[in-house]
Amino acid sequence: MAKTLLAVHAHPDDETITTGGTLARYSAEGVRTIVVTCTRGDLGEVRDPALLAGVSSVADLRDRELDAATARLGVSRVVRLGYSDSGMAGMPENHRPGAFFAADLAEAAARLVEVIQRERPQVMLAYDATGGYGHPDHVKAHQVAVAAFEASGAARPARLYFVRFPRSWSREFVQALREAGIDAPGSAAAGADAGPTVPDIGTDDGLVTTRIDVRPYVRTKRAALTCHKSQMPADHFLMRMPDALAKRLWAYEFFSREDTSAPAAATRTTAESPPATRRGGTGGEAPDPHCAADDAFGQRPPLHRANDTVSGAQSAVRRGGITSGDESAATPRSDSGDALEWLGRREGLESDLFAGLG
Ligand SMILES: [Zn+2]
Repeated sequence: MAKTLLAVHAHPDDETITTGGTLARYSAEGVRTIVVTCTRGDLGEVRDPALLAGVSSVADLRDRELDAATARLGVSRVVRLGYSDSGMAGMPENHRPGAFFAADLAEAAARLVEVIQRERPQVMLAYDATGGYGHPDHVKAHQVAVAAFEASGAARPARLYFVRFPRSWSREFVQALREAGIDAPGSAAAGADAGPTVPDIGTDDGLVTTRIDVRPYVRTKRAALTCHKSQMPADHFLMRMPDALAKRLWAYEFFSREDTSAPAAATRTTAESPPATRRGGTGGEAPDPHCAADDAFGQRPPLHRANDTVSGAQSAVRRGGITSGDESAATPRSDSGDALEWLGRREGLESDLFAGLG
């Protein structure tokens, strides 16, 4: 059986930032990979005006960047739903004609169902109900993906996964950047990097069911990120991340299995905590010329605190102790151990999105 993986993303660059390693890995392993991008990224800030030479708009520039990045990842097909960006919560852009946030959910989902019925993916990737960090377009992308999953009839993928940023990973990420002398999201008192506080980024580690080892593909992911030039000025915190640090922080990508045949919550132990010792600092390496960008780690302020509440659109998706569970109780003490090493060693997690499928 030919394997097909479909990933639903909000903006150009999200595909690389949040699932770039996974897309590169499965593409390299011969899986047909489909990226659906909901918006054209037209509200993205382009700090280097030279990049707009030869293109008619920001959206066109980001189209090109998306093509280049997905080609680098080996993605088989990119589908653009073509909506306009929404702004952050409360911004007037959210209600302009064509804005994704204001789009009719059923209409958007129907367009995604068409893709599902044509491609027949066994595995579908989507954001969780927070969209990762609360951006209205990300939240909407979650709603559209779940609605389409439910409405796809006989073509319904066997697996639905939500992208997850385990909170101990998020904390480790920010701490490691600080140790490397890089201002990370949430680390500044004011300005663009003020963002959410560290505990606000990500979800409870216990929600993770699936850890994809993408260590051989971190360089590919970074190379793909460089294709999103408009979103990645040289001083961006991801652009400044040393290669060795990227290898460590991006070694795995995390997901939670959300289809109704997912294993029971009881199999997911959350009682463990990361070890009480920390590895040494990561400073001292030369900055890598290749890099990355954008918003997956909370550079922009969140719409609301990242509680993983179950949306109405999720009605047929498994719930009860997983997606709607209490996230605070099981959050490990990530500031007292090497959370990444702990997450890498944690037992009982799936290591393949296609596990158990023909
Ligand atoms: Zn985005």
